[in-house]
Amino acid sequence: MKLKGKIALVTGASRGIGRGIAEVFAEEGADVAVNYVANAKEAEETARLVRAQGRRAIVIQGDVAKRADVEAMMEKTWAELGPVDVLVNNAGIETIIPFLELTDDQWTRLTDINLRGAWLCSQVFCRKAIAAGRKGSIIQIGSIQAAKVLPGRTHYAPTKLGLEALTRNMSAEVTPSGIRVNCVHPGYIETDMTTWIRDVPGARDMVLSQISMGRSGECREIGKVTAFFASEEASYVTGQSIHVDGGWEGK
Ligand code: NAP
Repeated sequence: MKLKGKIALVTGASRGIGRGIAEVFAEEGADVAVNYVANAKEAEETARLVRAQGRRAIVIQGDVAKRADVEAMMEKTWAELGPVDVLVNNAGIETIIPFLELTDDQWTRLTDINLRGAWLCSQVFCRKAIAAGRKGSIIQIGSIQAAKVLPGRTHYAPTKLGLEALTRNMSAEVTPSGIRVNCVHPGYIETDMTTWIRDVPGARDMVLSQISMGRSGECREIGKVTAFFASEEASYVTGQSIHVDGGWEGK
């Protein structure tokens, strides 16, 4: 059990990759705070899966783009589970909008959640951990799109590349205080976010043909790499980003 006795806060853990991370963390011995913004029922299901592993879970509604929500989320987790050891900034949204049509509001909402939200959660976590003299680990969930060009992503792709820069720069500032910061870039994972790939005729086959392993990834496969970064096995690893994409770049 890589994460025995650890307490983790996973943002956007009601569905998809966040749920996969929560499940693997629980199997590895962590108690998990499950954050969501809209889908309470799904978040409760994630919490049920965590508890089924004999671990503690709480469910917390909150928008990662709102400082008051993030501070409340962190306080609640500390109060109900204990001091947070691991923060996973997984919450994110993706929209596909051509550059010439993108509005200010669309740009702002997406970048607020995907990039500023991760920065905000990280800052709230680090301030509290450092004040308490505690060590910790942060994992940002980026995207393979940090390194790709896909249509309609002039707002999304920069947020994911930005998480890589955030990881390196935060690491330089907080690792001396004992907080490691790393980033996982998932490839193609079949979640609600990627239903469009299943819906557009031929799109799924086209994507899979570019992936060396010829298949999509599982949410739990992202969870396993995230658990590695969160664990003592990665005790000398910080400021790093890894692509977990089945070899999407390899072809
Ligand atoms: P998903 O199935 O759409 O789930 C998104 C999660 O984020 C949900 O739990 C959602 O909560 C939460 N969320 C959205 N906005 C939020 C906000 N403002 N505050 C708090 N939580 C919020 O997405 P996914 O595919 O699992 O993606 C998870 C992460 O992986 C994202 O950062 C995404 O960019 C990244 N990623 C995904 C893929 C892929 O192929 N799926 C590939 C690369 C990167 P509710 O359920 O309450 O709405």
